[in-house]
Amino acid sequence: MSTQAQQEPVDVLDWRKWINASLFLGMHIIPLAAIWTGVSWVDVVVCVGLYLVRMFGVTGVYHRYFSHRTYKMGRVTQFCMAWLAMTSAQKGVLWWASHHRHHHKHSDQEGDVHSPRLQGFWQSHMGWILSSEWAQTDLDRVKDLRKFPELVWLNRHPLLPAVVTGLLVTLAFGWSGLVIGFFLSTVLLYHGTFTINSLSHVFGSQRYDTGDDSRNNWFLALITLGEGWHNNHHHYQASARQGFHWYEIDITYYVLKMISWTGLIWDLREPPAHVIARTRRNARSVAPPPEHTACASAPLPPARPVSDEGSECLPTGTPV
Ligand SMILES: [Zn+2]
Ligand SMILES: [Zn+2]
Repeated sequence: MSTQAQQEPVDVLDWRKWINASLFLGMHIIPLAAIWTGVSWVDVVVCVGLYLVRMFGVTGVYHRYFSHRTYKMGRVTQFCMAWLAMTSAQKGVLWWASHHRHHHKHSDQEGDVHSPRLQGFWQSHMGWILSSEWAQTDLDRVKDLRKFPELVWLNRHPLLPAVVTGLLVTLAFGWSGLVIGFFLSTVLLYHGTFTINSLSHVFGSQRYDTGDDSRNNWFLALITLGEGWHNNHHHYQASARQGFHWYEIDITYYVLKMISWTGLIWDLREPPAHVIARTRRNARSVAPPPEHTACASAPLPPARPVSDEGSECLPTGTPV
């Protein structure tokens, strides 16, 4: 199957780029309408609640499930989780996964979707999203997901879950609920998520030699519910847990673990001990088991390939 990007004429993409940019920037202005609607404590609670629930949708679903397949779930649950993630208004679930896989394939190298090293802060933070270059979904990168027609349908209606959420919030909490509870939390959610593409490739420590600029940053881990352990994640992308040690708070993983107790999701994958131990300092002394040698320190079992091409390994610092 050819990619959608290959089918779109350039002038349509340029026209759409300006519409998207206007909508995106307009969302930053809408919360100022609180001058007229006022703000109640309920609105603030809704704002915080929607930020947290939808951040989980971004990290636990868009990222750890659809992009990396680090755990399993049934088809109905999969659709509901995709809907939850897309209430964040961060485009379709296939779009998100395909671009994220592209990032890991080219991380901080030529062709990376968002790299502060190559493109600067603003382009890696949000400029790339507004660019027509990355507007379409490369379905060839999500061969494992495009076989589900319900996900393809959702991907064609990227704003539907967010619009429904906004309507429900308005019905329940009025205009101030919409302005603060929904729109302000959506804008905060954008920039919270975007810090992983920008700041977590600049500020923080590098426990592992991943060959890119990914960092571990405790503050970013707090505001993104665990995504700030980004160097850990680039080192071993197949794990549902990104905080490798007890003191690396990873709220998304804790929530996933609790959901697994209900039976809705299962087979949460953990980082093997030798992968955790293979830090920059220990890289030479901790050899991977023989069966993993060909895959360096980050093997992926064939049953759940992360790559669009079905690669079985995600060697640290090596493209998918
Ligand atoms: Zn990732
Ligand atoms: Zn990254």
